[in-house]
Amino acid sequence: MMRRLALIFLFCLSAFGAPASEWADTDAERVRQLQSRALSDDTAWMLLESLTTEVGARMPGTPGDALGVAWAKSRLNALGFDRVWTEPVTFPYWERNAESARLVQPRMQELAVTALGGSPGTGGALTAEVVHFEDLAALEAAAPAELAGKIAYIGKRMARSRDGSGYGETVPGRSRGPFVAASKGALALVIRSVGTDDDRLPHTGTMSTSEPGERVPSAAISNPDADILEGLLRRGPVSLELNLDCGFKGEATSYNVIGEFAGREGNGEFVAVGGHLDSWDLGTGAVDDGAGVAVTIAAARLVQQLPERPLRGVRVVLFANEEQGIYGAKAYAEKHAAELARHVLGAEADLGSGRIFRFRSRVAAEAEARVALLEQWLAPLRIPWQRDQPAWGGADFGQMRRLGMPVIDLNHDASQYFDLHHSANDTLDKVDPSDLQYNVAAYATLIYWAAETQVAFGPVAPSP
Ligand SMILES: [Zn+2]
Repeated sequence: MMRRLALIFLFCLSAFGAPASEWADTDAERVRQLQSRALSDDTAWMLLESLTTEVGARMPGTPGDALGVAWAKSRLNALGFDRVWTEPVTFPYWERNAESARLVQPRMQELAVTALGGSPGTGGALTAEVVHFEDLAALEAAAPAELAGKIAYIGKRMARSRDGSGYGETVPGRSRGPFVAASKGALALVIRSVGTDDDRLPHTGTMSTSEPGERVPSAAISNPDADILEGLLRRGPVSLELNLDCGFKGEATSYNVIGEFAGREGNGEFVAVGGHLDSWDLGTGAVDDGAGVAVTIAAARLVQQLPERPLRGVRVVLFANEEQGIYGAKAYAEKHAAELARHVLGAEADLGSGRIFRFRSRVAAEAEARVALLEQWLAPLRIPWQRDQPAWGGADFGQMRRLGMPVIDLNHDASQYFDLHHSANDTLDKVDPSDLQYNVAAYATLIYWAAETQVAFGPVAPSP
């Protein structure tokens, strides 16, 4: 009886889960298989566990970064990529040695602080009065006399949202604030961390690499410490002692690590996916961007394990030094500009390990019907096409998109991401293995969709 029930149950499953009309087409059947395999595949988790345990933090130019490059090469080879190679990327080397901050007036209070990437050191302890600004615009509007000999403080708090849009609204204080503070004669800048958590852990992150002018020593304090500082500022004058031992020290070289599977057509065209291999130094770079590295490698491999390879190839690019100025992606775009046409489509994973909840597209108008098919294929994963916003390609593949590479963005749920981002809390325990599998299913679908077709997704107009 049980067996018969089980058979009926199985029959119902196949009847509802795979109606002949929907899965009659071979492509769709393969996509269904890919998704089903991805949801039980632990390759991405094994990669991420290995990367965060054996390598750890990968700050550009450090021994950890070099270890990460060696790790990536050996993993891509071990996973059977046809060709694995590296391309050098040179950049200014920034080091962090020590950092501390404390309130000294009206009372003593140690603060959880971290220097911003690109910050000069303070040359010993620097003590000055703090001037509060709501946001960067308020600092820009300040009269220089207000800031001479003082420490500027920007208190803007990042809002939590599923699409992570609060980051773009808050991060200018970190990227441009150090230059604006310098132009006003301030001695230093302290910001409320660009993060959504209430942990006493500050979030680092780089300042602009293109802003002209001088910069002041700059640091971020944790959200709870920012609350204490603001509470005291509401009551009267506050003085802060800041001691940052950090700064630029010559140049360093790291490497973009690239792995490629050839397509069965052999015409040199490929779908480009990837993330950035470097990370900040405070955590182990699990969600930023170990997750993106692990998911795109695992998805590319899964597609190659089909009985027959797709027409076009797949290239996985693991970019060097994204965090301190997108150096790896800029070097890649410069080196590969002439082969733009071989990059039929790009997609970057660099928004943590949350489940992908929608996608955006930037392809030629003639390819939109093909994008509608992708929406159909992603429907079982509940990933709809958001038509009113074009894809941007991510910080890294954005460099190729600017030249005209078509891109798709698979948008992760970033509700929790900015609790961890660039902080000491960016560690493996925050990652749910089943979320990685889900995201591998989405990326494998995307890769197969773009690779098993002759449709030209470009040309797309170059965009800033
Ligand atoms: Zn990142």
